[in-house]
Amino acid sequence: METIRTKLRPLISVVAPCYNEEESLREFHARVAAACQTLTGSYEIVLVDDGSKDATWSIIESLADTDPHVVGVRLLRNHGHQLAATAGLHVANGERVMLIDADLQDPPELLGSMMARMDEGADVVYGQRISREGETWFKLATAGLFYRMLTKLTSVPIPRDTGDFRLMSRRVVDLFLLMPERQRFIRGMVSWIGGNQVPLPYERHARFAGSSKYPLSKMIRFAVDAITSFSTVPLRIAVWVGLATAGFSMMLLLYALYQWSQNVVVAGWASIITAIAFFGGLQMLMLGVFGEYLGRLVQETKGRPLFMVKSIRAGKHLHDVPSNFSRLEPGVRDDIVAAWSGER
Ligand code: UDP
Ligand code: MG
Repeated sequence: METIRTKLRPLISVVAPCYNEEESLREFHARVAAACQTLTGSYEIVLVDDGSKDATWSIIESLADTDPHVVGVRLLRNHGHQLAATAGLHVANGERVMLIDADLQDPPELLGSMMARMDEGADVVYGQRISREGETWFKLATAGLFYRMLTKLTSVPIPRDTGDFRLMSRRVVDLFLLMPERQRFIRGMVSWIGGNQVPLPYERHARFAGSSKYPLSKMIRFAVDAITSFSTVPLRIAVWVGLATAGFSMMLLLYALYQWSQNVVVAGWASIITAIAFFGGLQMLMLGVFGEYLGRLVQETKGRPLFMVKSIRAGKHLHDVPSNFSRLEPGVRDDIVAAWSGER
């Protein structure tokens, strides 16, 4: 069955989430367009405005005015990087889809090499950083620690030193879009899909302009999201800790009995108060771990829409988007977007 979508499918979609990127966007668009042009004329650039407070949307509109390859997606409010990227992937229609940050930390020029690896049979080509300019030692150290921990905690092979910068086949993107979870750790979800996933080493540059939109608090939340959505090991730690403390308390009991047989009764205040404080803390900690999972379970069971789209700009046309857009059957949604893109 040939739908409008398959007829109008461009060869390449480039998807970029943008949050307050007014300083980088024009340069970003120029470099992406140039990288695509060297490969094919059949491409689209999907720019997702994640509720920016600066001129990001008006720049996207003016880019769409002059370049029919541009598809602008305006979210109703800020949803965060991972959901904005997800929204872009819902709209992207290409045979192959490249996900990239809009701040030019990931060079768009790698599209050619990524395409070549995919021609050789890869389902996913992910950028793997061999160096990272312009990052603080703190970010590098915490990121290193996080990835080591994540690898230990999960059976999904999530490669180190990778972000979400990657080229994916249509099949991988379609499978990705079937995953309904809110707590999204895109690089992990794509790894989970499996198939032939190959790295492409590259040097990550400093931001072209502006500052990181990931403050420490967001980074911590992102890390906890990643761990809780890919591992239930932390929940099971309680079992091991419980067993260990049970063994320990048996030994304490033997010791107490021995002391009693020696008629020593009052000594041991320090050890008692220490044990109470220690195990009290431990129990609160494990409760906290349970809470992290429980809270996420609550969020997921609500089943709210993942993202809300205000409008989509395809070429010169601005379209209102139906409220249930993110819930539409993939075929229906793609047909709507393809029909709009066809008017360009
Ligand atoms: N971003 C977004 N929504 C947000 C935060 C960031 O769409 O709430 C975009 C941002 O514009 C950029 C990408 O996500 O294109 C990565 O963000 P950033 O560069 O701030 O993260 P970092 O590279 O510092 O980890
Ligand atoms: Mg960045």
